[in-house]
Amino acid sequence: MRKPLMAANWKMFKTPADTTAFFSAFLPLVKDASQSEIAVCAPFIDLPAALTAAAGSNVSVGAQNLYWANEGAFTGEISGPMLKALGCTWVIVGHSERRQYFGETDETVLRRTKAAIAAGLKVILCVGEMLEEREANQTEAVLHKQFGAGVAGLTPEEFAEVVIAYEPVWAIGTGKTATPEMAADAHKTIRHLAAAAFGEAAAASLRILYGGSVKPDNVSSLMAQEEIDGALVGGASLDPASFSKIVNF
Ligand code: PEP
Repeated sequence: MRKPLMAANWKMFKTPADTTAFFSAFLPLVKDASQSEIAVCAPFIDLPAALTAAAGSNVSVGAQNLYWANEGAFTGEISGPMLKALGCTWVIVGHSERRQYFGETDETVLRRTKAAIAAGLKVILCVGEMLEEREANQTEAVLHKQFGAGVAGLTPEEFAEVVIAYEPVWAIGTGKTATPEMAADAHKTIRHLAAAAFGEAAAASLRILYGGSVKPDNVSSLMAQEEIDGALVGGASLDPASFSKIVNF
């Protein structure tokens, strides 16, 4: 039985003061939410405020990226051991915005994922196709490529620390959601790839989240799909009431 994970991706929104205000409104709304695990992935500068506010609660905290070296002359970067020392549980790797705007590739996704796990973090690893690729019936091929180059190079022990987020790029921040059936099909492809690389048992326990314009009014139909094990939520996670409705779907 896979426990759903509801993860917020705040992207480049909120100050530390906004973060504290979010948690004081959000925590009471989700304190009885035992059906799902909850994570908030915040900008680096908000992590101390998020960790302080979430201490002792049922909400864990994560970052949105990391660099693969532990330390060194890498101006502007943040490492896995730094995030772990702060108290983070999660880190997002390979979000489509990092692939589109910051040169992330499947190879660097793999390097970041290995480094995160070596530091003791759990990874939300994002995959998904662009609109042109879906329209050209390339969704499966893209997932094969992203999985083959970005995930299959993990060891079985590393793979056990990974949650995959399937995020069709055309559905992120656009208000367009994949239908629950479209999402479930892509999740099945990913689970087949996981079974081929890591075996049936590892594939059966892999959590696959859906991401792309998840909102309080569509979360229930998405979560009704057996293949969907939670959500990675951008826009609708910025407001405590709206993210709590998603968590309490
Ligand atoms: C995301 O940022 O991963 C995301 C899915 O964004 P949104 O929910 O706004 O589409």
